[in-house]
Order: sequence, then C-alpha cells, then structure tokens
Amino acid sequence: MKTSPKTVTEVIDPYLPKNGNFGYRVSRYELDLEYKVASNRLTGSATITAVTLTALQQFTLDLSTALTVSKVSVNGKRAAQFSSRGGKLRVRLESKLPTGAALSIVVRYGGAPRPLRSLWGEVGFEELTEGVLVAGQPNGAASWFPCDDHPSAKAAFRIQISTESPYRVVANGKLVSRRARASRTVWTYEQSEPTSTYLVTLQIGRYQMARLAKAPVQMQAALPQRLRDDFDHDFARQPQMMEFFVERFGPYPLANGYTVVVTDDPLEIPLEAQGISIFGANHCDGTRSSERLIAHELAHQWFGNSVTARRWRDIWLHEGFACYAEWLWSEHAGGASADDLARFHHQQLRDKPQDLLLADPGPHNMFDDRVYKRGALTLHTLRGRLGDDKFFALLEEWTARYRHATVVTDDFTGLAANYSDESLRPLWDAWLYSTEVP
Ligand SMILES: [Zn+2]
Repeated sequence: MKTSPKTVTEVIDPYLPKNGNFGYRVSRYELDLEYKVASNRLTGSATITAVTLTALQQFTLDLSTALTVSKVSVNGKRAAQFSSRGGKLRVRLESKLPTGAALSIVVRYGGAPRPLRSLWGEVGFEELTEGVLVAGQPNGAASWFPCDDHPSAKAAFRIQISTESPYRVVANGKLVSRRARASRTVWTYEQSEPTSTYLVTLQIGRYQMARLAKAPVQMQAALPQRLRDDFDHDFARQPQMMEFFVERFGPYPLANGYTVVVTDDPLEIPLEAQGISIFGANHCDGTRSSERLIAHELAHQWFGNSVTARRWRDIWLHEGFACYAEWLWSEHAGGASADDLARFHHQQLRDKPQDLLLADPGPHNMFDDRVYKRGALTLHTLRGRLGDDKFFALLEEWTARYRHATVVTDDFTGLAANYSDESLRPLWDAWLYSTEVP
C-alpha cells in the first residue's frame, strides 16, 4: 500500500501499529478491582506511575472501548479532558508538564470486559464456563486495564481484586494478602520484577491449590479438583524439568516461583504469563501427552518473559527457544534426541512453502508453526557449530545479561559471535535472513 508522507504516523511496532504510546514511561501499575463472576462486571481503578519523556500536555493509554472510563486524574488533579475511542484513552491536562516529570495517573473505569479481536483471533480477557482467563499475547492487556501495551514497556505490578469467595484468583507475583469479607474475598498480588503487559494475567476459577516442589524453585498448581489424579501423573516430571532448565539456561528469573493453572474448560493452546502457565483441561488427560507443551511454557519464563523481544518481528527469540527447550527436554528425559527431532522437523519444513523470513515473519505469520520449528533448528545448527559447552554457556550468558530486559535479534547474534572462532554470518544468513530452508 502506498502512503503519502502526510498519512505516515510514527508507530512503536509495525506488527501492532495501534499499540504502545509515546511521551512517557511507566514503572508501576496498581490495579484495584472488583469483579463479579456471575454478571461479568469489572469495576475499579488503575494507578499508573510514570515519568514523562518529553514535554507533555496530552497522552494516550491503550484501553478497550468495552470499558467505560468515569474519571481520570493526573498528579491529584482532574484531567482537563479525556475520551475513549478506537482502543485509546486520550487524556488532556490543564497545563504542560516538563520532560522528566513524575506522573501519577488514576483511571476509574468499569464495564463488561470482553476479548479484543486481533489478527490472531480473540485475545485478552475471556469468560470461562465458570471464571475468567486472560490470554494477553500479543495485545490483549488493554481488554482489562489501561496500559502502555507493548512488550518493550516493562513495569512492576500490584493487582488487587475482590470477587465471590468460592473462586480462587491467580495473578502474577506473590500473593501478599487474602482477606475474606462477607461473601467476597480480596486477593492482592505483587509482581516486582519488570513485566511486559501481555504477560500480566488474571485467572479466576473454582481451583484447588497443589504444591509440587520447593526446590530448586517453588512450584504450585491451581486446578479443578476433578483433574487432580490426571494432573499428578501428567505434571509429575515438571520439578525435574525445572532442575534441568536451571542447569541449562541459568537461574530461574523470578523470586516468587512458578504456578501452573489448569482451567476446567479445554483450551486450544496453553499460554505463558509472568511466573504462570495456563493449560486447558484437555492438556491434563492422564497420558502425559502434553509434556512437550509443559516444557515449552516453562522455558518461556527465561525466553520471552525475562528476555523479551523489543519488537514482535523478533518473536523467534521467544518461540524458537521455547521449541528448542522441548527438544532438549525430550533428549534429557530419554525420549527422541534433539538431533532426531531436528532431522524430522527439517524435513517437514522443506515440504512446506518456503516463504517465511525468520527474522521478520510479518504479523500474519508471527505465530506460524514454521517460526517455532525454524527457530529451534537455527539453535540446533548453532549448537552443532559451537559444541555443547560453548552453546550452553552462550544460553546462560544470554539469560543473565538480558534478564528482565528487551532484546533484538542482533543482540543474540552479536553475543554468539564471542563463542565462535569463525564468522557465524553464513549461518544467520541462511537461517534467519533467507526464506529458503537451508
Ligand atoms: Zn510459545
């Protein structure tokens, strides 16, 4: 499509041109919410702590138009004007703030949250048969709170939510308090590590908690009682998996452990959030058929959640690595070797259309299976070139150096260069920057 210079607008990420905002940087969100499961009503406030990056009299936040904003104040004063349209909350101040000014934005809002329609189907806040799930990737966060919704904008979170007492609420970070008052319970979670908005989640259901392991990382699960026996079998090896990944990828990035949520409803695919993975009842069938996915989601805690792509075009840094972790686990657990899996998937890729550029797959192909498999094959090829010692030392340095940070592909290829005596350029050219399958 041709655009005249006049219609070109600056965007943070061309894959999601409507998401993300300019002029400020958020350091902390405090959500204070009330949710009614029976009627799907969400009300409350978001307090957003930020700093201006430029002189600013107006700014925007991402927020679903399904939610109505009743009041906006900034630094204790009512905003001069605010309006909600096209997924943006626009706020105008009485006077201009200078660069570097502290911003405390309070947004009061409410409504019946619903998923957002995206190129990749429905994302965000979703009602379950009984409860709630949030699937934030890639741009679903604005379906339930006002935010600067882009992975490069990491912040700390406090999520406080009150809901009917029979339900358990799982959100990111540490459960710092749980208070029952009358028929409702207030749950407060604190997520102190910097977290991308798409990884912020809310899970509500009739869940029982199960403790899985204390070391090397505290692990627990929230699941319907009826799935407990199958779960105990299917997820039995997750503690060994954690041990293995810590050994291969470096320390688990979060202070507050790892929680698996299994919903009572089936889910097409499991998904990752900061410190949490969400599986469907169908992934828990007593036959261990989803162990590959259990490994995949756990690996995202390092690759994707801690070390996060700054732009979605670099999504192979999430999915290629998580897919390769599946192969490493298979090999470690006595299943097919990484080499066998690589050979198999290499052939499969050769039989598919060879029109995908791994380093820039385009928004439509961002979650294409070829990104996952080609990404894993790229890493397997690199491992073959460097040898195991150097390859795993590289992965450990990668997760340590960019812990809770954001990255681009060049950061990885640049770091990898330190582990090789000869140029890796031909390898990257063939795997990342050509569409043909090497
Ligand atoms: Zn994944």
